[in-house]
Amino acid sequence: MLEELRKLDSHPTAVELFEIVRTRLPNISLGTVYRNLDLLVQSGEARRLEFSGAKARFDGKPGHHYHIRCVRCRRVDDVHDLPPGFAVGQVRQLSGYEVLGCRLEFFGICPECKTRVGAVRDEPTGENENSGGKESTCAAPSAVGDGGGDVGAGS
Ligand SMILES: [Zn+2]
Ligand SMILES: [Zn+2]
Repeated sequence: MLEELRKLDSHPTAVELFEIVRTRLPNISLGTVYRNLDLLVQSGEARRLEFSGAKARFDGKPGHHYHIRCVRCRRVDDVHDLPPGFAVGQVRQLSGYEVLGCRLEFFGICPECKTRVGAVRDEPTGENENSGGKESTCAAPSAVGDGGGDVGAGS
């Protein structure tokens, strides 16, 4: 099962992994998957990723790396080439703690969602910009109306 987990880049939940493993081992139960995942996490061969407000996901990739989660489709990707514990020294200095570890969660909008939705513009401030745009198009005809007023004064 670790083999299957290592093959995946998707950081599956236990249920997702169960669906995948089941295609090869039709008799496996979800309980077995949970138990095996627990054992793998305890032995350090897999990592359990817990994101706030989301189901735990599992990662069989060796080596330390950070994760970034898409707020739209909830996929989880690896962030490579970020030095492990890059902030730990500073946190130790600032807090006076002996830092044993950290759980750092990045989130954002993945490249796929960015292209699917087009420009990322549905933040609340975007609405104000839009209504401002409408007002400026409304102002244009009134300028033309001024010109018409000239004709009316002539007659
Ligand atoms: Zn996404
Ligand atoms: Zn990972």
